[in-house]
Amino acid sequence: MERIVVVGSSNTDMIIKMQRIPKPGETIIGGDFSMAAGGKGANQAVAAARSGGQVTFIARVGNDLFGEQAIKAFAADGINVEGVIKDASAPSGVALIFVGNNGENSIAVASGANAKLSVEDIERTRDIISSAGVLLIQLETPIETVKAVVQLAASGARVILNPAPAQPLDNEILRRVSILTPNESEAELLTGVTIENEAGAATAATALRARGVETVLITLGAQGTYVAGQDFCGIVPGFSVTPVDTTAAGDVFSGALAVALAEQKPLREAVRFANAAAALSVTKLGAQPSAPYRPEIEAFLSTR
Ligand code: ADP
Repeated sequence: MERIVVVGSSNTDMIIKMQRIPKPGETIIGGDFSMAAGGKGANQAVAAARSGGQVTFIARVGNDLFGEQAIKAFAADGINVEGVIKDASAPSGVALIFVGNNGENSIAVASGANAKLSVEDIERTRDIISSAGVLLIQLETPIETVKAVVQLAASGARVILNPAPAQPLDNEILRRVSILTPNESEAELLTGVTIENEAGAATAATALRARGVETVLITLGAQGTYVAGQDFCGIVPGFSVTPVDTTAAGDVFSGALAVALAEQKPLREAVRFANAAAALSVTKLGAQPSAPYRPEIEAFLSTR
């Protein structure tokens, strides 16, 4: 199996569930606190490792308790952490999340060390990056760093870019991307096309392919994924499950997809595998806690 290298963010999410979100200047007592590992890069690395990939993660964390804890957890998931750098001065990335009883949330993110993942870091880890069969990146990392990663990918490596959080991308990046995995709103932001049905997804995907992306996979929530590649255009349907928490469904999708591609599965089969892993993740609470393990995915697929 080919080596998967994930470059991206690692955060600690600190969540308080409470009656309602406090207004500026207000203090509300009586919330329930929980903590969970997050950050899109880390979520995708963990999802890939649990779905059976050989994963190396490149990231920056702080030289603090959260960074230490994150590295230990990655290693426990079998992830190679030689590319996880401890920043000497910046703290680990943290997200403070308030969730009200009605489900609305309010989130403040301090990127900390994530914002310092630099072009130099990528150059220092160039041997790792150029040995990857599949490279997986997102947009919680400075864009210059993302650019450096796609430029260092070996010819023949598959570069998967999950364009989240959404931001405009120039063609210099897009034409080095083998597979782009936006959700509907990210695809809309990148193309200006409104996606309300399959035809909309097809139009957006065509626009992105015209800008140099080889294959576009637009994730459509419970419906599944719209696939636009060289040999096939159409929806690979999702799996029907009872959703509990859809946080990180897209991250699990991209992580599992990387594994299926590293195993040389054909595109549609790889998307089916990723849809299954993502469907399983929405049946559980939390970002990293909800990423399923390979045997669960196999068992789920064998019953469908
Ligand atoms: P994001 O989490 O980035 O917004 P989506 O909501 O499109 O992305 O979900 C990503 C993938 O997760 C989908 O393509 C699908 O395979 C799976 N998924 C998401 N929501 C559900 C759901 N309610 N039921 C089954 N699968 C789902």
